[in-house]
Amino acid sequence: MYPRFSLSQFLSRILPLLFLFSPTSAQLAQNNEDPTTINTMEEFSGYPIHEPPHSFFSNSLSVDAQTLQKQIGELSTFSDSPAPSVTRILYTDKDVLVRRYVKNLMGLAGLSVREDAIGNIFGRWDGYESELGAVATGSHIDAIPYSGKYDGVVGVLGAIEAINVLKRSGFTPKRSLDIILFTSEEPTRFGISCLGSRLLAGSGALEKALKTTVDGQNISFLDAARSAGYAIGQDDLSNVFIKKGSYYAFVELHIEQGSILEERGISIGIVTAIAAPASIKVDFEGNGGHAGAVLMPNRNDAGLAAAELALAVEKHVLESGSIDTVGTVGILDLHPGAINSIPSKSHLEIDTRDIDEKRRNIVIEKIHQSAVTIAKNRGVELSEFKIINQDPPAQCDKSIIEAMEAASKELNISHKSMISRAYHDSLFMARISPMGMIFIPCYKGYSHKPEEFASIEDIANGVKLLALTLAKLSLQ
Ligand SMILES: [Zn+2]
Repeated sequence: MYPRFSLSQFLSRILPLLFLFSPTSAQLAQNNEDPTTINTMEEFSGYPIHEPPHSFFSNSLSVDAQTLQKQIGELSTFSDSPAPSVTRILYTDKDVLVRRYVKNLMGLAGLSVREDAIGNIFGRWDGYESELGAVATGSHIDAIPYSGKYDGVVGVLGAIEAINVLKRSGFTPKRSLDIILFTSEEPTRFGISCLGSRLLAGSGALEKALKTTVDGQNISFLDAARSAGYAIGQDDLSNVFIKKGSYYAFVELHIEQGSILEERGISIGIVTAIAAPASIKVDFEGNGGHAGAVLMPNRNDAGLAAAELALAVEKHVLESGSIDTVGTVGILDLHPGAINSIPSKSHLEIDTRDIDEKRRNIVIEKIHQSAVTIAKNRGVELSEFKIINQDPPAQCDKSIIEAMEAASKELNISHKSMISRAYHDSLFMARISPMGMIFIPCYKGYSHKPEEFASIEDIANGVKLLALTLAKLSLQ
């Protein structure tokens, strides 16, 4: 059913929107500052043109929270583990079906849908100056085993709803608006995190690596992609790359995955920087021996070398003097792992993160020096010190942060600046586009487990803020 308006309702409700959001709108009239035109328009519309345009606009944004909640519930049923947990792994049947579900919603929102060779999905709303760099938003819909409903999903379904919000308000974008569903943010299947955004952002190293990448079942990446309908007849994936400058801005909506917003009762986190991890693998080898027979002066204990290095990691991280520097030894294996045997081998995996790349790399260098010194002092061999990845952190763009802050104020939604300690597709989008992120609270900061939860009120606030931010950036 179409909504019916009386003429007076039409004049008071619809006309102001037409004036404000068509390209020949009040905004342009404001720039002309022609008093006659403005007076005529004011009389005709019944609204003073000099009132800030956004006040009409922000009032006219309404999120269909009920439908959005229903969609989040529906999407969670595409899972390989029983509810309330969600398991959705790249290129599995459930992943293919959920992609169809999202493409359908994009189509219903009036977006033109395209997919690239690895299944990054794009839904575009053409702007009236479509030759300008587009404004993009989006996130991921894959889920690690036994995780929750909201990680990534809020940024995809929320983005589609943000477009619907703008369409219902009568908004017309100047720059085109794109929603991107990124392939495989989680590293579950092929051990590569942010695979889709990393390749999209032009990683030649990844493009090369994907030709020989296999999963735990020895299925190649390319075969898996083909089974899902992608990369058909092509080994060269460099056509996935998007040129720097194609996007004017990228904004991702995401659950915080921490508890700061919830604890402080704040609705929105405006992200200023994304910390990036470096991962290091270390192996020590000693002679081992009988726990009773080999006396202490004669030992070269690989286990103690690992223990000493773990403490050194903590020390070097603390020495940085910044609360933003963190380091974790999440894996420490001893061989042969018997109570009466001196460890002959030890294996550590170290994760260190920061928002400042230089500071983080200094920590890595100090960890390396410590590993060398410890090996020497204990008479063990440092058989491996391998930096697995060392992605640079990203700073959010100042003008996008300003747009988000202005939007929060107009919508009267409480907000605070914060750092993203986890990393996201946005980290890689930052390589080709100015980037920003919006966080919403999540229950106790739970994520990557079935208890993950965000209230529909918080999601709706995030969607509204995303919609207004996209609108502002689109008109720039
Ligand atoms: Zn995520």
